[in-house]
Amino acid sequence: MPYDPLSDEQREIRDLVRELARERFAPRAAEIDKSAEFPWDMVELMREHELLALPFAEEHGGTGTGALMVLVAIEEISKVCATTGLILAVQELGSLGIKLAGTDEQKERWLPRLASGEWLAAYALTEAGSGSDSAAMRTEARREDGHYVINGSKRFITNAGVAGLYVVFAKTDPSAGHAGISAFVVEADAPGFQVGRIEPKMGIKGSTTGEIFFDECRVPEDNLLGEEGEGFRIAMRILDRSRPGIAAQGLGLAQGATDYALEYAKSRETMGRPIAQHQLIAAKLADMETRCEAARGLLYKCGQMIDDDAPDLTKMSAMTKLYCTDVAMAVTTEAVQILGGYGYIQEYPVERMMRDAKITQIYEGTNEIQRLVIAREMLKESRAFLLAGVG
Ligand SMILES: Cc1cc2nc3c(=O)[nH]c(=O)nc-3n(C[C@H](O)[C@H](O)[C@H](O)COP(=O)(O)OP(=O)(O)OC[C@H]3O[C@@H](n4cnc5c(N)ncnc54)[C@H](O)[C@@H]3O)c2cc1C
Repeated sequence: MPYDPLSDEQREIRDLVRELARERFAPRAAEIDKSAEFPWDMVELMREHELLALPFAEEHGGTGTGALMVLVAIEEISKVCATTGLILAVQELGSLGIKLAGTDEQKERWLPRLASGEWLAAYALTEAGSGSDSAAMRTEARREDGHYVINGSKRFITNAGVAGLYVVFAKTDPSAGHAGISAFVVEADAPGFQVGRIEPKMGIKGSTTGEIFFDECRVPEDNLLGEEGEGFRIAMRILDRSRPGIAAQGLGLAQGATDYALEYAKSRETMGRPIAQHQLIAAKLADMETRCEAARGLLYKCGQMIDDDAPDLTKMSAMTKLYCTDVAMAVTTEAVQILGGYGYIQEYPVERMMRDAKITQIYEGTNEIQRLVIAREMLKESRAFLLAGVG
């Protein structure tokens, strides 16, 4: 009897993704890391098996299976290949703006193309001078002849150069701070839109991370998502729902590294016995497994809250991202330690997993920012009643 909150249908889909991950994604992971080329063959496989349809409602060509299912799928794929797991996570990240703030017409225009996987999506908030402090962005948009004209640039954008559309944040009123930011859909062939350099990176090497430029870039005015000035609120609502995707990527990496280290520790012998029987190694394995299970508890709860349309996701989402990704870094580092010298060389996957894990503590809000968000939400809560009777 499985003790997880998944329905029979969700468990069935998870098992299908798990099998696909083992049979098809895992054998490509090392090559993708080595070549650092975007894995279009993995996208094709995801299209064929409708994995890119997971984040979407049935009316838009999706599976209608909800947010928890997306997280479980990202976790399963990331156990073997975090670059491929990220493709699904960013399909969710890049489409959430349309799902949360789009009109029916906008949803019909874009979501079916994303659900089928014909187009990949991207989310463009960060600029060279504004990452954590996103309200300091300098990209601007002005309204002109039924269009918005965008000028500026964005940096570190996942799926740069491979996405069919970008959800872009720009200031329509530069004097109004947060309240002057608006959100737009920019299609990849928009005039004045250009992709710049793709960054070489430490990990998730097959994923593109690049600069994008807007030079008098014109988009029709009905590409505005929500109202003018609502962009920052939309960006934050998106992150509340997308950060768990990065948590799922982190948990997948941690569990994949734990599984690999366990099997290795059972077969590698020193001083006349498998290293798993040395207590110091056994303790590491026990801690790794416990951390993964605790992380999964948070992740699945967060997924259920999104599916239940819980009114306040911010704190839970930040805690989930923080914990799962700190676990990813700690556990993959321990996995390398368990493999000893072999852990440090590229022939063994834990080396890649440790490099891939690092980014999960940085993107979609660094873990320092997650801690600030959690503490800020805590400060809004009143727990004074607990002090009654405490001497
Ligand atoms: C591979 C990759 C993919 C990415 N994909 C995307 C994407 O698809 N879309 C997108 O919009 N962005 C993306 N990013 C950008 C990413 O979200 C930012 O890099 C991240 O938010 C941090 O911003 P920054 O790099 O400007 O660091 P900074 O904001 O300059 O922070 C530097 C350091 O200071 C800390 N810090 C900053 N402010 C505070 C504070 N108030 N209190 C305490 N500590 C603080 C940070 O935690 C960090 O340790 C990606 C980045 C990378 C590397």
